[in-house]
Amino acid sequence: MTQAYDVIVLGGGIGGYTAAIRAAQLGKSVAIVEQDKLGGTCLHKGCIPSKSLLRSAEVYALMKDSRRFGVEADQVRIDFGQIMSRKSAVVEQLHSGLQYVMKKNKITVYRGIGRVIGPSIFSPRSGTVSVEQEDGEILTLVPERLVIATGSRPRTIPGLERDGERIMNSDDALVMDRLPQSILIIGGGVIGVEWASMLSDFGTEVTLIEYAPRLVPGEDEDVSRELERLLKKRGVKVMTGAKAMPETLEKHESGVILTVEHKDRQVPLTVERVLVSVGRQANIEGIGIENTDIKIENGYIRVNDAMQTAELHIYAVGDCIGGLQLAHAAAHEGIIAAEHMSGLEPHRYAQHQVPRCIYSRPEIASVGWTEAQAKERGHQVKTAKVHFKALGKALVYGDSDGFAKVIADKETNDLLGVHLIGPHATDYIAEAALAQLLNATPWEVGQTIHPHPTLSEILGEAMLAVDGKAISI
Ligand SMILES: Cc1cc2nc3c(=O)[nH]c(=O)nc-3n(C[C@H](O)[C@H](O)[C@H](O)COP(=O)(O)OP(=O)(O)OC[C@H]3O[C@@H](n4cnc5c(N)ncnc54)[C@H](O)[C@@H]3O)c2cc1C
Repeated sequence: MTQAYDVIVLGGGIGGYTAAIRAAQLGKSVAIVEQDKLGGTCLHKGCIPSKSLLRSAEVYALMKDSRRFGVEADQVRIDFGQIMSRKSAVVEQLHSGLQYVMKKNKITVYRGIGRVIGPSIFSPRSGTVSVEQEDGEILTLVPERLVIATGSRPRTIPGLERDGERIMNSDDALVMDRLPQSILIIGGGVIGVEWASMLSDFGTEVTLIEYAPRLVPGEDEDVSRELERLLKKRGVKVMTGAKAMPETLEKHESGVILTVEHKDRQVPLTVERVLVSVGRQANIEGIGIENTDIKIENGYIRVNDAMQTAELHIYAVGDCIGGLQLAHAAAHEGIIAAEHMSGLEPHRYAQHQVPRCIYSRPEIASVGWTEAQAKERGHQVKTAKVHFKALGKALVYGDSDGFAKVIADKETNDLLGVHLIGPHATDYIAEAALAQLLNATPWEVGQTIHPHPTLSEILGEAMLAVDGKAISI
């Protein structure tokens, strides 16, 4: 069967389905080709299931600590089956919602593996998609415009390939049948830190190793330092500047032994499981890129700021183009692609305007440059740090670790970066992102009236503190 559409989207993750919805809203006939489940990594193997588990871990940690709040809760226990069922129910609810949104926008979803083909009898241009459906039937979809949104998958370390049981990646960890007693997490980036925080809250003995000299190396150095301090305080063993030695791997009945090279020493670790979380690589193989003139750079599809590839009628968005590999960035890129192909002037974005969130306890949220990056870019910086301990709401919550750090340019007063580590930080970083977008100075954000008592007050105070005008410190 051959079918023509205005827009075909290859990959039904958040980047792809957002592009599809926006294109449909703009009057295009649209189809998505998805080999697995609509919603992709974010909904099924990423943001949503992991945050659901993190919430259960947070509730458990709070209940164990409830005496502090004058609440006696004896015999607090984990029902891991219920934790996993709740996670699946949240995912399923969103999955059905998404299917409804597709129908509402008259977007056809084809289940199958899509592959881009070159100029053919169907079209003089490359970009036709051949779809191998589950029953083996081949469909040919001929679009005016194609959006590639095939996402990414976990990277592996040679010699430490996943077996799904002893050696896991984040996909495996999300479907574990029980909590391990001990775990070695390789990789102290966003995913590794979230799992370390979550599993340690669940009572698992966690060792977290990172090759770089500090955890979350993309974040401000002060934040990394505070995170390491707080994780260690909770009993997580953190080793930075450390490297797993795959050649030492020994698997046995109840776990594995793996040696880690740390500070010129070789440390053998015996753990029940290993989680490898060393980043994600783009899904660009086997999708027919070689049949087009699309350029690949450092393993990612190269695009311009309108999300066009070197073949201007073919767009690419989301994790497959690299950059920050975050769900909200993918969604925004989807909107840019859909609007641009419809002749509109979409709002382009710069990477430093994209907020970054880590859902550890405490949470980390940032937008803009780190202090080191700002200096490297030639800025004379002024900085201020306000600790959550100064905030009424944080003390009321009983959760007052961490701080807000604001970085501004000494001469121009431009806001350069905002870095939060503290309770529910991910919930109010958008205010700092808005400030960046509107080019607001710290003083202007400080003039915004923040309701009291709220955790968002930390932003107002930290912005004023840059000019020495904070009230509470
Ligand atoms: C554990 C974890 C936690 C995360 N937490 C967060 C978070 O809290 N916040 C955040 O912003 N980001 C988070 N992320 C990152 C986020 O999930 C990704 O950035 C986002 O899902 C990228 O969306 P995408 O549409 O580019 O790709 P994906 O969501 O990966 O979707 C790509 C889709 O394309 C399909 N596909 C691939 N090839 C083909 C083909 N040939 N034919 C048909 N279909 C194909 C795949 O099956 C998939 O469904 C997390 C990731 C992980 C792994």
